[in-house]
Amino acid sequence: MGEGSDDVSFHIVSRPSQFPTALHASSLGAAKSLDHSTPMQRLRHLFCTMGILSFFFGECGKQPTPQSPATTQTMPSGELSYSQLDITERFDDHLHLKPDDWIPTVPLNKSVPNGKDLPPVDASADEVYKAAERLSQLRESISIQSDGVYCLVCHVANTQLAKLRTPYPKCGRALLKFGWE
Ligand SMILES: [Zn+2]
Repeated sequence: MGEGSDDVSFHIVSRPSQFPTALHASSLGAAKSLDHSTPMQRLRHLFCTMGILSFFFGECGKQPTPQSPATTQTMPSGELSYSQLDITERFDDHLHLKPDDWIPTVPLNKSVPNGKDLPPVDASADEVYKAAERLSQLRESISIQSDGVYCLVCHVANTQLAKLRTPYPKCGRALLKFGWE
């Protein structure tokens, strides 16, 4: 009987082993169908994620755009309207000048009456010079290749920037930075 029970127990053991095989087969089939759907789902999920991400990034990218005009609006616009008090009569005057040539300049406050930041026409030479020196300091902080020098009291200009802050022989005042544009 011990053998028989062994047989039964063997059968019992062997039978359930068939169930997992069947289950395994069905789960394999399910897994196979899952294998087909999973990449699709992953792709769909990826596209959804990308869509959401691009939406957020798009929103983030959009946000600084309205800010930039605001920052440019806060920039002082009229501050550098004049960086010198004299001008030459023509734009290309300096192109024909030799290093030692001096060209007559015209005071801006005479050609632009009541011009912003310009000293009054009847201002003293010292007053005008002080105003021009401040403007020259501003201009000296910007490197402009074509800039020259001028004496705003004698109303003459020269193309050689090397003469900057050296005294003009006629009046002894330091030459200031001059733009030809
Ligand atoms: Zn001078």
